[in-house]
Amino acid sequence: MFKDILKDQQPVVYQTLSNALRNKKLSHCYLFSGPAGSLMLETANLLAQTIICTHKKEDWACEECIECIQVANHEYVDLLYIDGSNETIKIESINSLQDQFSQTALAQAGQKVFIINNCENMTAKASNSLLKFIEEPSSTTYGIFITTQITRVLPTIVSRCQTLNFKPLSNETFYQKALEKGIDELDAHLLSPLVHKEEEIEIVKELDSYQVAVQYFVEFMNYYFTDLKSGMLYLQNNGFKINAKSKNPKKDREVFSFFLQIATTFVNDYHKHIKINDDSWTNLLTLAQENKFNSRNFLETISETKDALIRATNLSLLIDQMLFKLSGGIHDR
Ligand SMILES: [Zn+2]
Repeated sequence: MFKDILKDQQPVVYQTLSNALRNKKLSHCYLFSGPAGSLMLETANLLAQTIICTHKKEDWACEECIECIQVANHEYVDLLYIDGSNETIKIESINSLQDQFSQTALAQAGQKVFIINNCENMTAKASNSLLKFIEEPSSTTYGIFITTQITRVLPTIVSRCQTLNFKPLSNETFYQKALEKGIDELDAHLLSPLVHKEEEIEIVKELDSYQVAVQYFVEFMNYYFTDLKSGMLYLQNNGFKINAKSKNPKKDREVFSFFLQIATTFVNDYHKHIKINDDSWTNLLTLAQENKFNSRNFLETISETKDALIRATNLSLLIDQMLFKLSGGIHDR
């Protein structure tokens, strides 16, 4: 049941909604604000189910009846779902929402719910039109707005809604999910800070650019502690083929971006003495320990490179600069 997942992953949100349901003081307009992948849409669906379901258990939807299933699939007659994730929400969509909601509910439950996902992508005209509508809520109408960028939502909309803040899901959650899917420990460990949705774990794991990045990083770090010059040559010649013309510059960037993320995880593991059941990774951490890893210089360089990657037009130059800075401090000064 999603209710149990919500209780476990977003306890504050769960508690707030539970209290409101128990006291029959549900707000007519909610704004869910949080990062991508924090279960906001799933929660909106559950709340819509709870408003509509006629087989409730302990204040919440049963999540099993025909109404609940239709709501979850956004196929229920008195539920309107508008999604701004791929295109802006224009006034026409809002007008049709208002038309539909000014009529009496079609289904027996008599409650109507609209969900607006990525509501920050509403045009100003659409927002203003909707504002007039939510200012005079009817007792049978509920609205749920979802946003990953609350600063882009019209302040007057924010002030009309009760805001619920969703926190990012922890890396630990994704790590456990990855293990459950049969992904090995190292990949689960490296992927968990990279993914924002459970279903992304396997997709990212299968990406060639991810797999190549892991290989480059492990290989490079082995050199880094023992023979830095060879390490630099490895990355320049075998890895990113800096001097040759790249066949796929877009992929090179992707690989390098993964490489930097993996490097960040490595320093974190080193600082926090995190142990993973994987020989190659454990070996690198042991090497770091033995060679008085200058993790500060390393992390600084990786962070600077990460920031620069977004703007960098010349990837080879950026990698060269990174290697130059890394060579400045293998050992603690
Ligand atoms: Zn139900």
